[in-house]
Amino acid sequence: MRKPLIVGNWKMNKTVTESIGLIKEMIDFVQDYEQTEVVICPPFTSLWVARELIQDTNIVLGAQNISYHNEGAYTGEVSARMLQNIGCDYVILGHSERRSYFQESSEDVAKKVRQALNFGIKPIVCVGERLVERETGKAREIVSEEAAAIFEVLNKQEIVNIVFAYEPIWAIGTGKSATPQDASEIIKYIRTLVGNKYDETIAQHIRILYGGSVSPENIKSLMAEPDIDGALVGGASLQALTFSKLVKFQQLQL
Ligand code: PEP
Repeated sequence: MRKPLIVGNWKMNKTVTESIGLIKEMIDFVQDYEQTEVVICPPFTSLWVARELIQDTNIVLGAQNISYHNEGAYTGEVSARMLQNIGCDYVILGHSERRSYFQESSEDVAKKVRQALNFGIKPIVCVGERLVERETGKAREIVSEEAAAIFEVLNKQEIVNIVFAYEPIWAIGTGKSATPQDASEIIKYIRTLVGNKYDETIAQHIRILYGGSVSPENIKSLMAEPDIDGALVGGASLQALTFSKLVKFQQLQL
């Protein structure tokens, strides 16, 4: 049985002061709620204070990126060892904003995945197609290429520590979510890819999230799809009450 997972990607939002306020509110809303695993991914500057605040709660810490280098003369980079030391359990890798604005290739993402796993941090690996690729019937091809780069560097023992997030780029921050059926179709496909590369037990074990304009209005129908194991949430993770509704989607009356 895969436990639902809701991940908040704060992107480049919230100062330390603002983060403290948001996290305190979130704790009030979601503490003691055990039905969903909750991960928040604040910016680097807020990780330490976040870690202090969420101690002894059910909220888990994640980061939004890491360097694929170990350490050394890489100005501006943050290493996996630094994130491990601060108490990060997860890291978002291969987000489309990093792939497109910072020219991260699938090979870069794979190197980062390796680096995260070397330090016991679970990667949340984003894959997904652009609008033009969806419209030209290439969604599966793109997702398959992006996933293959990850499979290339991981064995059976390692792949079980990965979470995939299917994030169609046209749905991110646009208010236009994929339909539950479309999201589920690609997520099932990713599960099949995992099964073909590794085995069926691993495919059934691995969690695959949907991301792209998830909100309290659509979370229940998305989560009603048996293959969708949770959500990677951008905009709606920046407001504590809204985020808590996603975490407690089982209780939403819609
Ligand atoms: C994201 O950035 O991963 C994301 C899904 O953003 P939003 O929820 O705002 O579409």
